[in-house]
Amino acid sequence: MAFVEFREVTKYYQMGEQKITAADGITFSFEKGEFVIIVGPSGAGKTTVLNMLGGMDVCSGGEIRLEDKLVSSYGSRQLTEYRRYDIGFVFQFYNLVPNLTALENVELACQICREPLDPAQTLKMVGLEDRMDNFPAQLSGGEQQRVSIARAICKNPKLLLCDEPTGALDYNTGRTILKLLQDTCRNTGRTVVVITHNQAFTSLANRVITIKSGKVTSIAVNDHPMSAD
Ligand code: ADP
Ligand code: ADP
Repeated sequence: MAFVEFREVTKYYQMGEQKITAADGITFSFEKGEFVIIVGPSGAGKTTVLNMLGGMDVCSGGEIRLEDKLVSSYGSRQLTEYRRYDIGFVFQFYNLVPNLTALENVELACQICREPLDPAQTLKMVGLEDRMDNFPAQLSGGEQQRVSIARAICKNPKLLLCDEPTGALDYNTGRTILKLLQDTCRNTGRTVVVITHNQAFTSLANRVITIKSGKVTSIAVNDHPMSAD
């Protein structure tokens, strides 16, 4: 069985009288240690897929598995545990606590984990050893995103899920962030899933899942992904 598996997953949102289909029979799988990019135009259903994988939203039908666990059968209590212990999230707008330093932001996330990594060590890994005592407002967008990546990795999650992590950054800074995520995957064997609408980044992944109008339109496997530089 694959590490992560989506089987015929659907998601409907009810908006008054209108039923919106955000995911329309999504099927894919990938293995532990893969660097997966989910790409597609705005409104395609990418965030919906990532939120269901991360236990932030529930599917309307189909099956979602992580390892041998049927996540799609979890109730709200199990989902809270799943989000807390198994998943690390990285968001477009960083979501750092403004009145805590970089180090304190990472330490805070570690307090709710079972087996956290060392916060200072993790910040060093993302290249911020000299900025640990800075507050978010004193850091550039790229640096804030590095803090948020350190905060997610520090939880030592099974899956690192990143929703448009480059969305608020210029192209070169965004590329550096994707390179960092690629390195994290290569050097530590962590499984990373990144959403982007930027086709230019897909050469970095070893699996590219393209989603359009709630459907998977292609899955490309690349055994020799490019190294970002
Ligand atoms: P993407 O991440 O690819 O931009 P989304 O997953 O955010 O796409 O959205 C897919 C579709 O589902 C869109 O039509 C969006 O408007 C709709 N949608 C997403 N979340 C909700 C929600 N909470 N309520 C109603 N419709 C939603
Ligand atoms: P708690 O019961 O501690 O509030 P949650 O189940 O709300 O835990 O979230 C657990 C973890 O999942 C948090 O540490 C956070 O990183 C992440 N998370 C879940 N939902 C969101 C969200 N909407 N925005 C930001 N982070 C979230």
